[in-house]
Amino acid sequence: LDHSYGSAKRQKRIKVLVNPFSGPGKGLKKYQGVVEPIFKAARCAVEMVETQHQGHAGEMMRNLDITAWDAVVCCSGDGLPHEVFNGLAKRPDAKHALASLAVVQLPCGSGNGMCCSILGTSNLSLATLYAVKGHLQSLDLVSVTQGQTRMLSFLSQNCGMIAECDLATEQLRFLGRYRFIVGFLQRLILQPRYPCDIALCVDATPSQESCMEKACPDDESNDIDFSQSPHQGLPPLRFGTISQPVPAGWEVFQHESLSIIYGGKLPYMDAGSKMFPRARIDDGHVDVVRVEADIPRTKKLRVFARIGDGSYVKNLEVDYRKVVAYRFVPRGKDGYISIDGEKIPFEAFQVEVHNGLGLTLRR
Ligand code: ADP
Ligand code: MG
Repeated sequence: LDHSYGSAKRQKRIKVLVNPFSGPGKGLKKYQGVVEPIFKAARCAVEMVETQHQGHAGEMMRNLDITAWDAVVCCSGDGLPHEVFNGLAKRPDAKHALASLAVVQLPCGSGNGMCCSILGTSNLSLATLYAVKGHLQSLDLVSVTQGQTRMLSFLSQNCGMIAECDLATEQLRFLGRYRFIVGFLQRLILQPRYPCDIALCVDATPSQESCMEKACPDDESNDIDFSQSPHQGLPPLRFGTISQPVPAGWEVFQHESLSIIYGGKLPYMDAGSKMFPRARIDDGHVDVVRVEADIPRTKKLRVFARIGDGSYVKNLEVDYRKVVAYRFVPRGKDGYISIDGEKIPFEAFQVEVHNGLGLTLRR
C-alpha cells in the first residue's frame, strides 16, 4: 500500500487555466516549464486552456462539467481564481459547484496571495507539488454588494492608498511585484486621504440576522431582488445590501482622513506582505485594517516596513478587527478600490462572510 498521499486523492483530474497576461507575462512559459511536467509525473488528468481575455475564465466556469474535474488550477495571479469563483457563483447550482470543485492558484502573477496563504509558498515547483498532493479544504468566501451588483471575493477588499499602489501602477507591470514598492514610495510623498464612513458588524446576534432576512423580501424600497438575478444559486444575504440602511447594532465610524481600509480573508497578499496575520481560511470572519492618513511619514514607513511578517498590527496607528460584515462609504469621488486585486468603481460597498462556501486544496 502506498500511503504517501494520505487521504488526498491521487491522480487528480485538473482543469488548468493559464493567464498569459499575469505578472510580467510569463504564465505560459512557467506552466510548460514547471507545472505541466510535475502534473504529468504525478499522472494527473490535465486539460489546459489559455485565457484569451479578461472574463474568459469566468465564462468557462458557467458551463463547466463539475463532475469531470477535481480541481481548477489557475496559473496566474489572484485575478483568475477571482474570476473562477465568480463564474461558479453565476450558475444555478452555484452553492453545489463552489462546494465541490477545488480552486487552486499557482504563483504566476504579480499578486499571489492565495497560493502564499493556502499552500504556504511562492515557489512554483513546490506549490505545484503541494497541489498534486493536496487535501480538500473548505474556505470562506465573502459577498460584496455595490450598486446593483453582487460579487464574491476570496482574498481582499482594498481601498485607499495600498489599492492605489497596485492599480495606479499598471503601466509598470514589467517590474513584476516591484511595481508595488514604486507605487508606495510615490504615495508616501503625496499622502492621499480618504474621508469615508465605515460600519462594522463585529458579531451577528441571531436577532440581527433574522431581522435582516425578514426585511429583505418585504422591502418595498428600490432594493435589488437577487432571487431574479444571476446569483440565485448563492446563499441569501444575511445583512441585505449596500442599498439598505446600516443594520442595527453595527458600529459606525466617521473618518475625516483615512489612508488605508483593507478587508482580508487570507493572511498573505503576496509572499512579502502578511497583511492579515490573524486571518483564518474558514473562521467565518473577515479581518479589517484601518490606518489614518494624518500620521507622521516616519511612522507610516515604520508600519509598512513591518507588513512583511505581519508584526505591523502591533503598531498603535493600526486598527485591526475581525468582523462578520462591514460597509465602506467613501465621501470623495476619486480613489481606488480593488477586490482580490481587480479594480471596481470607487463607490460604497458592503461585505458579508459566507462560512465555508468555497473549496480549495491545502498542503
Ligand atoms: P496579476 O497578478 O499580474 O494581476 P492576474 O492573474 O491577477 O495577474 O490577472 C490580471 C488580469 O488579467 C485579470 O483581470 C484577468 O481577468 C486578466 N486576463 C486574463 N486573461 C487575459 C488575457 N488573455 N489578456 C489580458 N488580460 C487577461
Ligand atoms: Mg491580480
